[in-house]
Amino acid sequence: MSESEKKTKRACAGGKGREFRIGVYPGSFDPLTNGHLDIIRRASKLFDKLIVGVLINDAKKNPLFTMEERAALIRKCVDGMPNVEVGAFDGLLVDFVKQNHAVAIVKGLRAVSDYEYELQMAALNRHIDADIDTIFLMADVQNSFLSSSVVKELAWHGGDIAGLVPKEIEQDIVDNIKRLRTQSGN
Ligand code: ADP
Repeated sequence: MSESEKKTKRACAGGKGREFRIGVYPGSFDPLTNGHLDIIRRASKLFDKLIVGVLINDAKKNPLFTMEERAALIRKCVDGMPNVEVGAFDGLLVDFVKQNHAVAIVKGLRAVSDYEYELQMAALNRHIDADIDTIFLMADVQNSFLSSSVVKELAWHGGDIAGLVPKEIEQDIVDNIKRLRTQSGN
């Protein structure tokens, strides 16, 4: 066996010279969709550990579900993925990445419209810390139109969200939205 083959074997076995790689997948997840879950599944194969980082307070978005509700919905769906963890963060993403000793940020890209903003964020994060890179995974074509806003809008008006969100949390989302509608008197 050549030296390079030996190195690869060691690396695959998690032996000497192999760094334990942690990735962070951040977002509002208000609520989690099949698009998000697809990215989680794919990214979990690229890292030893993937941390789904739920943004606590998104000033721009004003979330419908609390951070605890959003995190609980994600936890239900990643139950069978042993290397996926759910965390929450506020403030700078780069700080959350560093606190968790992660090496990269994972983002999903749906359309050209996502690109411009994500390019800016990736550049900004590298400016803050040049050691932290952003990895982009292209959305599955099937999910390219899917967003949390689409799901909320549809569910709020009594539409069918089956196929847009994981089955495990479909009813939770419908129930949560019904409760919120009742509270708001709509
Ligand atoms: P949104 O409110 O637009 O659904 P989030 O802030 O919750 O977005 O998204 C978190 C991350 O997931 C972002 O990187 C976003 O680009 C990505 N993402 C959102 N929806 C999808 C999808 N349908 N397919 C792939 N990636 C997605």
